[in-house]
Amino acid sequence: MKLESNGIIISLRPFGERDAVAHIFTESHGVLSGMLRGAGANSKNKYLVGQMGATSWNARLDSQLGVFHFEAQKNLALSAMMDNNKLVFMNSMFALIETLLPEREAYTNLYNATVKTLSDINPESYLQWELNLLRDLGYALDLSHCSNCDAEDNLIYLSPRTGRAVCATCGEPYRDKLFKLPVNLNTTLRFLESVCRQQDVSVPNFRIFLQNK
Ligand SMILES: [Zn+2]
Repeated sequence: MKLESNGIIISLRPFGERDAVAHIFTESHGVLSGMLRGAGANSKNKYLVGQMGATSWNARLDSQLGVFHFEAQKNLALSAMMDNNKLVFMNSMFALIETLLPEREAYTNLYNATVKTLSDINPESYLQWELNLLRDLGYALDLSHCSNCDAEDNLIYLSPRTGRAVCATCGEPYRDKLFKLPVNLNTTLRFLESVCRQQDVSVPNFRIFLQNK
């Protein structure tokens, strides 16, 4: 089997002296994992997390770890490398993608959102990216109107169960059980925790670290 697409290196783990096991988030095929030859510390090739490039992935059998051929075109991590505040967001994005997306399933909207966010990482764009991630994982938050009475004003609560907004009046009796709007990283973390529980994985440390900053 051979798959080709543009992709972003989201993780590299040394394998032996010269190689690495990589995860690459591709535009057309989602997350792929495989060997990246010559990506090790003692090699001349400089593959870096955050590089975007032409990716091809080969595996002889479906179950086999694939082998990558990767031609870097651009380093999306450049601005993040200079700024620790941006770096923690980038690390969290890549860790969430690797942890939560199934392999070889296309998430093209999220791929495009990731490229766009990496070009201008800030707290607001990162939060929007997490809302995109949650939506693609089946946890779309609906903040447009009250889920009970359809009101579009005074939306100050969010239901943890449905992910939908609730107005001040409707929410008053349940205020202790509802999240407060506006949505922030505490809110999205609660939903990410639900997704992780369902998938039987832990919330990535990079995401928890972000919370404690
Ligand atoms: Zn209402």
